[in-house]
Amino acid sequence: MACEMTIQRQERHPGKRFRRWREGYIQGTENRGPEGGRAMTQMMNMPRVQTCTVTDCGYNHDGCTAFAITIGDMNAECDTFIGAGLSGGMGVATAQVGACKRADCKYNNNLECQAPAITVGASADRADCLTYEK
Ligand code: SF4
Ligand code: SF4
Repeated sequence: MACEMTIQRQERHPGKRFRRWREGYIQGTENRGPEGGRAMTQMMNMPRVQTCTVTDCGYNHDGCTAFAITIGDMNAECDTFIGAGLSGGMGVATAQVGACKRADCKYNNNLECQAPAITVGASADRADCLTYEK
């Protein structure tokens, strides 16, 4: 339990060791030992951002290239959206849902998304989780 909480914390506030593992994950050389294995298992359980149609977001390069996104509690808005001409991301469209504050969604369990995958697009805001369901 304590380990899981640590991993969840590391995903939201990645420390040096987690950042090293994450770089390996992207390069395919991740630590497959007990610590890397646990982190990888946890990552594989995180829902993918299957589609994002918000093309003016700085993370959108033929899909969401953020490592993980956060969904907010107002309109299930993508809190990770970045405009103002900024550009970022990991270079690959493999974003996952790191956390979701929309507690009343049927897929939300302990502020974590349990949907198989999500879609993001314009709705009440420029970028909302369209998979949200009450
Ligand atoms: S709006 Fe959100 S899901 Fe879409 S590309 Fe930007 S950060 Fe990713
Ligand atoms: S489907 Fe629901 S729980 Fe998952 S990210 Fe969207 S609003 Fe949050």
